Order: sequence, then structure tokens, then C-alpha cells
Amino acid sequence: MCATWPLTYWHQACTAKMGRDEMSVVNADLQVYGIDRLRIADASIMPDVPSGNTMAPCVVIGERATEIIRKAHGI
Ligand SMILES: Cc1cc2nc3c(=O)[nH]c(=O)nc-3n(C[C@H](O)[C@H](O)[C@H](O)COP(=O)(O)OP(=O)(O)OC[C@H]3O[C@@H](n4cnc5c(N)ncnc54)[C@H](O)[C@@H]3O)c2cc1C
Repeated sequence: MCATWPLTYWHQACTAKMGRDEMSVVNADLQVYGIDRLRIADASIMPDVPSGNTMAPCVVIGERATEIIRKAHGI
């Protein structure tokens, strides 16, 4: 569970958080620990519920995922 409650008003997030502790689901490259060739790129990877709206950070997560995948596959 996140340090803060994972459900805000319309901003469900943090259920597969990025990090290094025992509750983390993905690493900094969005790869799911223990499962090869699976990444997560949505609001669930936020480590904590942001104080602002979540849509814009989700766009950034998607853009970052694109960069990571392109780099990993040389495209
Ligand atoms: C009513 C409401 C109002 C909101 N208002 C705002 C706001 O004003 N400002 C703001 O910043 N944020 C707002 N949010 C929050 C914002 O919409 C979310 O944080 C954001 O959309 C989450 O993005 P996501 O990519 O994690 O998930 P989603 O946007 O939910 O995307 C998940 C996608 O996966 C698809 N999908 C699901 N299952 C499958 C499957 N099995 N196979 C293929 N595709 C699948 C879904 O169809 C969907 O397109 C609002 C949310 C709600 C519900």
C-alpha cells in the first residue's frame, strides 16, 4: 500500500507502485518484478497519490514508457 491512501476522489492510483521496497510492483523502467517482458504504464505506478490531478502525469508516464521501450528495442 502507498504511504497515503491510494484512492482520492476520481484519482485511483498507486496499486502497482514504482519503487524498490517490498510493496513495489515495477522498477524505474516500468518492468514488473519477477515477470519478464511485462511493463505497466498508467496511474497505478505512481508511488504516492499526487496532490494535483492525475491525467497529466499519466500522459507523462505514457511518454516515458515510449522512450523506454524504444530505447530497449533500438527503435
Ligand atoms: C469521472 C472522472 C473524472 C476525472 N476528472 C479528472 C480531471 O478533471 N483531471 C484529471 O487530471 N484527472 C481526472 N480524472 C482522473 C484521470 O482520468 C485518470 O487518472 C487517468 O485517466 C488514469 O489514466 P490511466 O491510463 O491510468 O487509466 P485509464 O485512463 O482508465 O485507461 C485505461 C485504459 O485501458 C483500457 N482497458 C481496460 N481493460 C483493458 C483490456 N483488458 N484490454 C485493453 N484495454 C483495456 C480502458 O478502456 C482504458 O482506455 C478523472 C477520472 C474520473 C473517473
